[in-house]
Amino acid sequence: PPIVIITIGMAGAGKSTFVQRINAHLRSRSPTQPDVEPRPPYVVNLDPAVVNLGFEANIDIRDTVNYTEVMKQYNLGPNGGILTALNLFTTKFDQVLGLMEKRADSVDYMILDTPGQIEIFTWSASGAIITDAVASSMPAVVAYIIDTPRTTAPATFMSNMLYACSILYKTKLPFILVFNKTDVQPHEFALEWMQDFEAFQEALATHGSSTDSEGEPTYMNSLMNSMSLVLDEFYKGLKTVGVSSVTGDGVEDFIKAVDASREEYEKLYLPELERAK
Ligand code: GDP
Repeated sequence: PPIVIITIGMAGAGKSTFVQRINAHLRSRSPTQPDVEPRPPYVVNLDPAVVNLGFEANIDIRDTVNYTEVMKQYNLGPNGGILTALNLFTTKFDQVLGLMEKRADSVDYMILDTPGQIEIFTWSASGAIITDAVASSMPAVVAYIIDTPRTTAPATFMSNMLYACSILYKTKLPFILVFNKTDVQPHEFALEWMQDFEAFQEALATHGSSTDSEGEPTYMNSLMNSMSLVLDEFYKGLKTVGVSSVTGDGVEDFIKAVDASREEYEKLYLPELERAK
């Protein structure tokens, strides 16, 4: 069966550009196997508010629900409109899953593109229902897209990692941290912070005041120090790749991480699923 890549990311992290890049990459011939016809991915767009997807999705929420109409009809703002559109679509998700399963023999990768406002998917019943439905039907992996240039401040880095951590514990799926925009900012600093707790603490200390006027550690710093211990545990279970969705750098590494996640899904997620039944 194919593996479903559930792409999640903060608005502006480059999720749309990333999905376009992955899509294009999987459609092009491999330089090592030029005679082999590539099998294009199957793409499901779950963002009702996206204006230009940049490619044709196999299933598009916009074909089913018009979120601006939903806003008008239910008197909602943009976020309420997107959430309601997603909820309406979720009621039909069994049909979507049916279509995905029908194509399972002819594709290797499926891409699930989620709404640009991350919390609409990660903190809604619909997001959980869709994720669980997909992952109980076929192998799935979460790709969490990070805006690398915007996460170089230690405190920002940590809140971003905590957010990723919360998604991991909610979905329990194999997880890939995708440091995007490496053409602008290489992600080595992040790798270092993730591997070396002390290096991160040091960065925290030099970035902003680590002690107050009496020389005591500030509340924020002692909080962050304790939280980074939690994160240390979180990092152990993750795959990390650096990519540039603009240049295509690292995209092959990402695909390799996805392939490796399949095994993890079978070893760790499937037995959990069986137990829960
Ligand atoms: P989304 O809101 O997460 O879907 O983000 P977009 O895909 O719309 O990208 C947000 C901005 O980041 C756009 O201006 C993109 O051109 C830019 N961007 C996305 N990926 C990259 C990348 O790998 N490198 C650079 N330099 N810019 C990127």
